Amino acid sequence: MDEILEINTKEIPVLALRGLVCIPGTFLTFEVTRKKSIKAINVAMETKQEIFVVCQKKLTNEEPTVDILNNIGTIAKIKQILKMPGGIVKVLIEGVCRASIVSTIREDEYLMVVAEVVKEQDIVNNDENIACIRNAQEAFDNYIDFIGKIPEELIISVLSEKDSGKLADLITANIPLDYESKQIILDCTDKIERLKMLTAILNQELSIMELEQKIHNEVQNQLEKNQKEYYIKEQIKALENELSEGDEEEGTNDLDKYKKQIEKLILNPKSKEKLLKEVKRLSRLPFGSQEGSVVRSYLDTVLELPWTTKTKDKLDIKKAEKVLNHDHYGLEKIKQRILEILAVHKITNNANSQILCLVGPPGVGKTSVGESIARAMGRKYVRISLGGVRDEAEIRGHRKTYLGSMPGRIIAAVASAGVNNPLILLDEVDKMGADIKGDPASALLEVLDPEQNKDFKDNFIEVPFDLSNVLFITTANTTDTIQKPLLDRMDIIELSSYTSNEKFHIATEYLVPKQLKKHGLTKLQLKFSDDAIRYMITDYTREAGVRSLERLIAKICRKTDKAILEGTKKTAITLKNITDFLGSPIYKDDDISKAPQIGVANGLAFTTVGGEILTIEVNSMEGTGKFELTGSLGDVMKESCKAAMSYIRSKRAEFGIREDFYKDTDIHIHFPEGAVPKDGPSAGITIALCIISELLHIPIRSDIAMTGEITIRGRVLPIGGLKEKTMAAYKHGLRTVIVPKANESDLEDIDSEVHNALTFIFAKTMEDVIKNGLTMPIGTQKDADFIVPEGKKQRKINIRQ
Ligand code: ADP
Repeated sequence: MDEILEINTKEIPVLALRGLVCIPGTFLTFEVTRKKSIKAINVAMETKQEIFVVCQKKLTNEEPTVDILNNIGTIAKIKQILKMPGGIVKVLIEGVCRASIVSTIREDEYLMVVAEVVKEQDIVNNDENIACIRNAQEAFDNYIDFIGKIPEELIISVLSEKDSGKLADLITANIPLDYESKQIILDCTDKIERLKMLTAILNQELSIMELEQKIHNEVQNQLEKNQKEYYIKEQIKALENELSEGDEEEGTNDLDKYKKQIEKLILNPKSKEKLLKEVKRLSRLPFGSQEGSVVRSYLDTVLELPWTTKTKDKLDIKKAEKVLNHDHYGLEKIKQRILEILAVHKITNNANSQILCLVGPPGVGKTSVGESIARAMGRKYVRISLGGVRDEAEIRGHRKTYLGSMPGRIIAAVASAGVNNPLILLDEVDKMGADIKGDPASALLEVLDPEQNKDFKDNFIEVPFDLSNVLFITTANTTDTIQKPLLDRMDIIELSSYTSNEKFHIATEYLVPKQLKKHGLTKLQLKFSDDAIRYMITDYTREAGVRSLERLIAKICRKTDKAILEGTKKTAITLKNITDFLGSPIYKDDDISKAPQIGVANGLAFTTVGGEILTIEVNSMEGTGKFELTGSLGDVMKESCKAAMSYIRSKRAEFGIREDFYKDTDIHIHFPEGAVPKDGPSAGITIALCIISELLHIPIRSDIAMTGEITIRGRVLPIGGLKEKTMAAYKHGLRTVIVPKANESDLEDIDSEVHNALTFIFAKTMEDVIKNGLTMPIGTQKDADFIVPEGKKQRKINIRQ
């Protein structure tokens, strides 16, 4: 064999191989059928039995020519030939060395070329060679881990081979590489490069095999899982059949029932598809699983919704008026407005173009007016209280994936009404808050907006529900805290406090009969004297509405019920026995001071619960000119105090107040009681009058109440809530009120009972307030020693006991 290597070039017959590469140093057997190939073998056998085997570049070429061959092939010795039937020749060859084609000699009957033997370098024992060998051995090691069984001799040969080129050839020949990779190794004439190339191929093969393994495992797992699931489902089905034997409604029939119900619904195709999908999902879930019950309860809830059920509106304005009158005393203007709105609704048939918002203090009948509207229209009525709602999900619902999730309040209300056109009363819209869980007001806006509520999407229901048929009515104590966009959608109707007289009528004509009926009593069994009712109004309650009054009446009814069971036949409530039923009066002593006082005045405030008397007290003491404010007051009120002070200092000389009083006198203003007024500045004139009274030592009239904003130059500006404020003055027995001149036109809003009872003083400037509010004109007071001569720091310190 060495002689082959010794001769550098030689003429040699060529055997073109398809998909086979002969690696030097290894044996190869194959069958030959092509004529040219058989001829080449024959020629070789006739000479030195040497043949040049070269792999074709493309497998498809049938007729071998030199062009279609790779340049590098292997000179091999033919070891054995076996002629087989059908002209097939089986050959065993041994690769000797690499050689390249130099030129073609013939291509006619067989191929003959001049081939040049590739000279291989000697073994080099440098570090690179060693590193390459180690790398290749490691890669081989990993590789055989994957393929499994490999002859031990081969492993030993690989581990003991010190020639990088031979090692590469050894491995290449003995592992199942494709012919292209083998040709790449054959093409590498540099030994180290060859081994590096092989290592790279091995590593790549390894990662491909790993990937194959992974894919295989995944497929296997999936298959196993599917089989397992299938098996379990079959078992469940068998068990379910066993359980529901005789009960055909259960199990799969249940699913059919859902399907049928969904098909029957008048819904858009998309929503139907979504619901059917849920049924499909349910069919795949094991019976009794938690997820299954979530889907079931979802489907039940959705299917129970009144998608198409509605009541027929009976909108007869005359009848509506009757209902409103039957349910409520007075409220004439409100009833008229409501009837107008209903008329518009009847003509336009548009439920929610503008949302009605009933605004007023508690207990004035907002909710019950809402209820009456529903009755008047023949609609179902549902009330949702929004007070304290901070989470958007309360309006829009929780996603059904969330454990314990349910629809929002709106959809729940529609579901409880059982029709898609109920009247929903959204109570206390002004008490809704917002927090990190979202802003319920914006969700509500979507509910109320006719553009959007056609396709209202509740998070739980997921399919859009048409809310456009629902009639929404809202109530609030104040419009101040309602968000602007919501407020813009609303048609505000204000309900104000009742006078004692109105309360009396409401009580005798409505509340008493209502409570009697509720407690199963007749007029003969329980009677209220008029005086008793008036006494209850004045001495047991102090409220804008009639809620507490109704509670008191209910209390008496309860006690009467008990007495009847104990044998009493008739009960009459009079001034004499009322304390037996209700205990001592709560508001017996009116805390409004009867005697005129220095530095104390009755202001009038407008709060969310109606009008209030706001008593303001001012005290002054020796100090460093500090200005102190205490009590419940907002920022605007503080501004009012400053404006009042500024005015007084500018008028000091006219009033006869010491020049530098503001440097050594501390003034303390206190707002003793009551809720924080809504309209801060309206206490301006009261504050100013108190300070003037205190500094000049002139008492303020105690039979008078006042309200008005003050400017730093003493002008009196108009205020809001006059109706409620004058009502408060009236209720507290104050018969004269000082109000801004600019509010004169608002007088017509005031309840006639109040209007007739009060004397109004219209103030344009602070001088008008001083003139009418103080018990004596400035300068006539005896206690004028307050004006201290310049230089002397002596002054009278006014301390009231
Ligand atoms: P609000 O919603 O304004 O707080 P409600 O509607 O709850 O007040 O009213 C409290 C009670 O007073 C109800 O029983 C209501 O029927 C009754 N009521 C209020 N105003 C009138 C009225 N004008 N006529 C008859 N009853 C009234």
